Amino acid sequence: MPDTPESQRSETAPGVMLITGASRGIGAATARLAAQRGYDVCVNYAHDAAAAEAVVADVQSAGRRAFAYRADIADEIQVEALFAAVDRTLGPLSALVNNAGLTGPISRLDAVSAEVVHRVMAVNVTGLILCARAAVRRMSTRHGGAGGGIVNVSSAAATLGSPGEYTWYAASKGAVDSFTIGLAREVGGEGIRVNAVAPGAIATDIHTASGDGTRLERIGRAAPLGRYGEAEEVAEPILWLLSDEARYVTGAILRISGGR
Ligand code: NAP
Repeated sequence: MPDTPESQRSETAPGVMLITGASRGIGAATARLAAQRGYDVCVNYAHDAAAAEAVVADVQSAGRRAFAYRADIADEIQVEALFAAVDRTLGPLSALVNNAGLTGPISRLDAVSAEVVHRVMAVNVTGLILCARAAVRRMSTRHGGAGGGIVNVSSAAATLGSPGEYTWYAASKGAVDSFTIGLAREVGGEGIRVNAVAPGAIATDIHTASGDGTRLERIGRAAPLGRYGEAEEVAEPILWLLSDEARYVTGAILRISGGR
C-alpha cells in the first residue's frame, strides 16, 4: 500500500475528552496536556473536589472548556450520570482516558482482605469496562457516532505480577490488557481506536496510598533508565495514541516504564 499523501490525511480535531480519576497524578497531567492540545475536558474524580477544581482552572487557563464531575466509576448509575453530564455540558465525546485506579495496601496475598480485592476489581476492571461501554455507545458509527479514541491506563504490573506487593492489582491490569485487545478488534470498523498504556513507577500519590513511601524511589532506581517517571511522561504518549499521528494504531499496549 502506498503512503497516504499528506494532502489527503484527515486531521482529527481534538474535541471533547473525558478523563476518569483526573484530580491527581497521571489523570491530572493528561487533562492539562489535553487542554494545550485543544481538547475540552471533563475532570472526573471520586473524593477530592478541590483538587479537581484546580485541574479545571488549569484547563480553562489554557483557553479550553472544562468541568469537574464527582462519580465513583465502580457504580453503573454514577457512570451513566457522568457521561450524560459530558453530553450536556461539552457535547459529543471524542476521547475517553480510562485512568481511575487503585492498588489497595501493599501486602502478600495471604494477608489481603476480600474487601480490598473486590474494590480493586470493581474500580480497575468493572468501572473501566462500564466507562468504555458508555463511550462506545456514543462514539461508534454503528450508533450514529462520529468515532473516537479510548486509552486504558493499565500497568507494567500486568506482566510483572507484583509478587509480595499487590498481585490482585496486577491481575486487574492483566484484565485491562485483555479487554483493550478485544474491544479494539470489536470496534475497529466503527471508527474507534482502543489502546492502553502500561506505566512503570510514576511519581504520583498512589505509592504513598499503598503504604510504602520508599517504593517509588527504590523501584525507579532499579529500572534500566535509572529513575522513576513523571506523570507528564505518561500523559504525552496518551495524547499521542489519541492523535491522528497514531491513526493506524489500535489494540496496542504501550509500556512506559523506563525499561522495567
Ligand atoms: P493517583 O495519583 O492515586 O490518582 C488516582 C485518581 O483516581 C484520583 O484522581 C482519584 O480521585 C481517582 N479515583 C480513584 N478511585 C476512583 C473511582 N472509584 N472513581 C473515580 N475516580 C477514582 O493515581 P495515579 O498514579 O495517577 O494512577 C492513575 C492510573 O495509573 C491508575 O489506573 C493506576 O493503576 C495507573 N498506574 C499508575 C502507576 C504509578 O506508578 N503511579 C503505575 C502504573 C499504572 P480522588 O483523588 O478524588 O480520590
